[in-house]
Amino acid sequence: PKETIHVYSVATGALYERFLKIMMMSVSQHTSKNVKFWLLESFLSPTFKASAMALAEEMGFEIEWVNYQWPAWLRGQTELQRRIWGMKILFLDVLFPLEVEKIIFVDADQVIRADLLELWEMDMQDHAYGYVPFCDSNKETLGFQFWRSGYWKQLLGDRPYHISALYVVDLIKFRARGVGDILRATYESLSRDSTSLSNLDQDLPNFISASHVPIFSLPQEWLWCESWCSLETKKDAKTIDLCNNPLHKEPKLDMAKRIISGELFVYSWEELDKQVKGIEKKVGVVARDVTTPSFEMTA
Ligand code: UDP
Ligand code: CA
Repeated sequence: PKETIHVYSVATGALYERFLKIMMMSVSQHTSKNVKFWLLESFLSPTFKASAMALAEEMGFEIEWVNYQWPAWLRGQTELQRRIWGMKILFLDVLFPLEVEKIIFVDADQVIRADLLELWEMDMQDHAYGYVPFCDSNKETLGFQFWRSGYWKQLLGDRPYHISALYVVDLIKFRARGVGDILRATYESLSRDSTSLSNLDQDLPNFISASHVPIFSLPQEWLWCESWCSLETKKDAKTIDLCNNPLHKEPKLDMAKRIISGELFVYSWEELDKQVKGIEKKVGVVARDVTTPSFEMTA
């Protein structure tokens, strides 16, 4: 049988649900392999679930819902955004069945422009996971890269600080080396201070990359985002994330329509959105067009 690429993602709120559908479409349109999306069920609406199943049927990908109860022995998070960040990283060893040997996490607000097979087959040189280092080609925002000096610079030395919007996890090595336990123990100890781990899912793997669990650096083109990368490098982007810009605040939906358009794209964001709506119409699912997030990320 054809090889299957496993992708994990999370979303909450109608806007990010809309983004997630488009992310899945873009992955599926660019790969020659089977794709199975593992989506965290508890935050998703019934409308989203119905729509996603219709897309899967039409586009020929699979979806499986995942659930996990935050354990009572691990410090909880009251804010929804921090709970989601926790779910992105803390339980990777126990979220999926053992036969899933690798997973690629992709943020909901991403549009993929290349075959994920390339990441799937990448030799990560014995690392348990691989992340993309932050771009430093957009000179306008360099001053906002807090890891270039002070505490993070001391901690990381010459190692790069990596972005958590996409990552590849070798679940066999991750489980065998107890990386889940290391992450949870580090989380438990650092989160005692409520001011640390301000970007929980990103700070945590970067923090332990200096000691216990090194990160394999994926090629830069596997995460382009306008805030940190130069416009000249956009044409090489294999995936585009709509990350917030520290200089100019812009609603994510406007960002999507502006950034995912033009000759670099087979389908613009608006065309992808129309394709989704067309499929929803065919099966009688009506998703609301909400334009504001349920909460704004502050990072
Ligand atoms: N997210 C979500 N609902 C929200 C905000 C964020 O589901 O209202 C999830 C979603 O998976 C998103 C991820 O958290 O892709 C990271 O948030 P975001 O992309 O807004 O962060 P940024 O890329 O701007 O740093
Ligand atoms: Ca994002």
